Amino acid sequence: MLKQGTIIHGKCTSYSNEGEGVIHHDKEVIFVKGLLVNEEAEVIINYKRAGISYASIKKLLKLSPKRIKPKCPVATACGGCAFQVLDYPEQLNYKQEKVAAALKQIAKLNVKVNPCIGLDSPYYYRNKTQMPVKMINHHIVTGFYKVKSHDIVPINECAIADKRANKIAQSVVAIMEDFKIEPYNEDTRKGIIRHLLVRTSYHEKEIMLVLVTSCDSFPSRNNFINAIKKANPEITTIVQNINKRDTNVILGEQERVLYGKGYIVDSLLDIKFHISASSFFQINPITTEKLYAYIKQNLGLKKDDVLLDAYSGVGTIGMSLASNVKQVLSVEIEKSAVKDAIKNAKANGINNIKFICDDAARYINTLDKLDVLVMDPPRKGSSLEFLNAVKRLKPTRIIYVSCDPNTLARDLAILKDMYMIKVVQPFDMFPMTYHVETVVYLLRR
Ligand code: SAH
Repeated sequence: MLKQGTIIHGKCTSYSNEGEGVIHHDKEVIFVKGLLVNEEAEVIINYKRAGISYASIKKLLKLSPKRIKPKCPVATACGGCAFQVLDYPEQLNYKQEKVAAALKQIAKLNVKVNPCIGLDSPYYYRNKTQMPVKMINHHIVTGFYKVKSHDIVPINECAIADKRANKIAQSVVAIMEDFKIEPYNEDTRKGIIRHLLVRTSYHEKEIMLVLVTSCDSFPSRNNFINAIKKANPEITTIVQNINKRDTNVILGEQERVLYGKGYIVDSLLDIKFHISASSFFQINPITTEKLYAYIKQNLGLKKDDVLLDAYSGVGTIGMSLASNVKQVLSVEIEKSAVKDAIKNAKANGINNIKFICDDAARYINTLDKLDVLVMDPPRKGSSLEFLNAVKRLKPTRIIYVSCDPNTLARDLAILKDMYMIKVVQPFDMFPMTYHVETVVYLLRR
């Protein structure tokens, strides 16, 4: 067994599910973050988990021609990005192959997978950035957590966060220093500010700053807020979120609007959405619009269709397809998301959509007719109960939107005897990371 600290010379032959480079060494499997296929390196073993040794690069001995200089100087230490060192066209190839491999290995489906649709500029795309704040060597810093840890890697500019969010985070940290407002310390449970969360609107000039605090009130709050507003006039609303719990969950239940209206507005394909501090909203607005437009334009929706949008979140997919069909039924289990969805549909004058707050499987079992099913389940995929109900209802078309190729493949294996797979289209919703979003179009046999 490989001990911690052992140094090994190895060659990377493939990527793990989470984008680490894989080295096989004497029957051991080693995952190395930032090592690319065909590269050789001296690596140092850090720890072992579930039979796999995790190592970091000590010295690169043979470089891949696909290697690029990362935009972010802490790309390897930070837990956020897996692929900053891989050139972007190659990232897109990796994602296309990842989907194809999952469909082949898990679902035994040998189908054509289209090239992954990416961004023209794959940096600074995130519309939501949440950064922990900590005191390190008597200085307040903000950044992101290291891989699988609560140690912060200080970052001045995150290469995938909206540039406006980067600037605001740095400015707030400097103002905290001026006002001597202490960041929260997880060990001593002292200090005030835990996280900074910035949400930016892509289409509107609106920006929300959320100060996540460990207590209700803090010294010189009004002056502190005024200083933030003065240095960052682009901020349109500031919210205090109070999280007194000793937990990894970032946001607490209690909220107080300190400035502005307490939410921002953004739109997807010209439909406007209210986004509050805790609302779910897709974090890459450009790819999201490409994905919705792709469904609208390519996947054969008809004016007399009844469409079920299952696992609908705040209803963005159903609302953007509503003008193409007769009726949309939208089912989602989270109460607050359904509440937001109802408000948003009303504000946009979309009347042919009905929102149901329920478990998707339980609801679909109550239907007796359906033309088209759109399903966008969470990472763990759908359920056998839901898929069996689909096979009973037999909609002529299914559009499956997935954020995990493995669970997508598992679910398609259940549908494949009744449905033909017509299109598999990956989208790069999260450039620089190992994640891939996939749209699959299925036609009843
Ligand atoms: N379609 C939405 C959200 C997709 S995320 C969008 O594009 O924005 C997946 C959603 O499934 C989440 O909102 C989650 O709350 C919901 N969900 C999870 N399990 C569910 C279940 N059993 N029944 C209905 N909805 C569920």
